[in-house]
Amino acid sequence: MSKTNTYILFSLLLAILMTFLLEWPFSPLNKAIAWTALKTGRYTTIEQSGNYVKTLLGGSDLTPEKIKTLPFFSITDTTKEITDTTIPFSVLTFENTYFPKDFSYLFPSGQDGIYETEAHTLLLDNREVANYLVKGKVLREPITQIVYNGSKEHTPLIKELETNWKTLATALTKKEKPTAERHLTAAEYELLSKTTALSDLSYRLDASIKISLEPGLETDISVQVGTVEVKQKNCTVTADIPILFLKDQQLYVFDKVYTALASLCAKPKATSGLLNCSNCWLAPVSKQFSLRSSYIPYVVSTGLNGGGYVTPDTKKALAKLFTAAKENGVTSIRVSSSYRSYKTQESLFNSYVNNEKKNGLSTTQAIEKANTYSAKPGYSEHQLGTTVDLMACAYPCNFYDSANTPLYNFLKKNAHLYGFVISYPNGSQPYTGYVYEPWHVRYIGETYARELYNRGYLTKKGFYLYQFLVEKGKY
Ligand SMILES: [Zn+2]
Repeated sequence: MSKTNTYILFSLLLAILMTFLLEWPFSPLNKAIAWTALKTGRYTTIEQSGNYVKTLLGGSDLTPEKIKTLPFFSITDTTKEITDTTIPFSVLTFENTYFPKDFSYLFPSGQDGIYETEAHTLLLDNREVANYLVKGKVLREPITQIVYNGSKEHTPLIKELETNWKTLATALTKKEKPTAERHLTAAEYELLSKTTALSDLSYRLDASIKISLEPGLETDISVQVGTVEVKQKNCTVTADIPILFLKDQQLYVFDKVYTALASLCAKPKATSGLLNCSNCWLAPVSKQFSLRSSYIPYVVSTGLNGGGYVTPDTKKALAKLFTAAKENGVTSIRVSSSYRSYKTQESLFNSYVNNEKKNGLSTTQAIEKANTYSAKPGYSEHQLGTTVDLMACAYPCNFYDSANTPLYNFLKKNAHLYGFVISYPNGSQPYTGYVYEPWHVRYIGETYARELYNRGYLTKKGFYLYQFLVEKGKY
């Protein structure tokens, strides 16, 4: 071997040695550097010194066994605290033939496992040089998480859900609670009696539905798989009813049914017919709506000039109106007519018809004529006990006596302040069917009376009491 070759070989070995000493992190040289740094405290953070300890251990994690292998220097190890760490789930996957294809859910979910962990501190010459954790015993095993992947085709599932919805709708309409409960979430069957109490429930349920499948909110016990969209005819409102899959029972149920049904359009109120109210004081008694013959309000004596009977609320308001009228110069104000029973109205109306017949009209013509100034039995506001005819002329006189004019002017201007309105104002006949009756006032409470007055009901065509009460719908 030549001298040159020996030199090249030597250089090569030296390079390998230097690389080994400097580049290999756990080389004796690097361990010596680490030890010196630890011994002299030449490090800035506990992480840095911890890495030096790791270098001394040849790169392995700090464990009690490894710590024992460290040289016999004054290295001490003390327990600092105990903490919990979670153990990850193990996940199993299954197929569910009842659940929609391409959807999945977790069952059961949420239970973490927990280890007890000791945290140790490594000391060198009473200086902290490293922190390390030691896993101790298992405090709680994690529950295995199961993922179910659905495989049921969407079309047959939607058909099945449509059938379920029809069954539920029928059960609700017929108030078959056990059947209805089977298709509702627990929260919904708590509300079942509220749902079946909706007076127009069958009207609300008479709607077209569209079922769509789409994964939604998932909880430990259920997962939303889609929605029933409910839409009634002649109603722009639609309602969405979530469809939930109950994980443990493997069942589909409907949620928030009551809220959805309540949000739909209510059945429109009838525009004519026999009124079914038990307290009818705000009912639109008119040529369109009549009171039952058995409707008898509680009435008391007016205690005012002219006598008569009215409901207690009407009595209070009427007394105030009388006081105000007198203060305004209408001193001879009196009650001419007040509460009239169905029977009284019947004989009154018949007497008017007979009078008209005496004037030469046929029975049909006589009834038609009488009905322009008097109501048929059941159709009179006087049966409500809230309506009075007032006068201010010296007896004997009639409603058309000019002595009544100051009273009628007072009523036009002020009746609403006391909760009264004129049922048949001037010009209202085409709308109400009755002639102008400035003496006939009905009590509807101050709030409504003021509202109707402010709408200009005395002069504005078609904005009369009857229309107002239909609009309010309190009957
Ligand atoms: Zn009257």
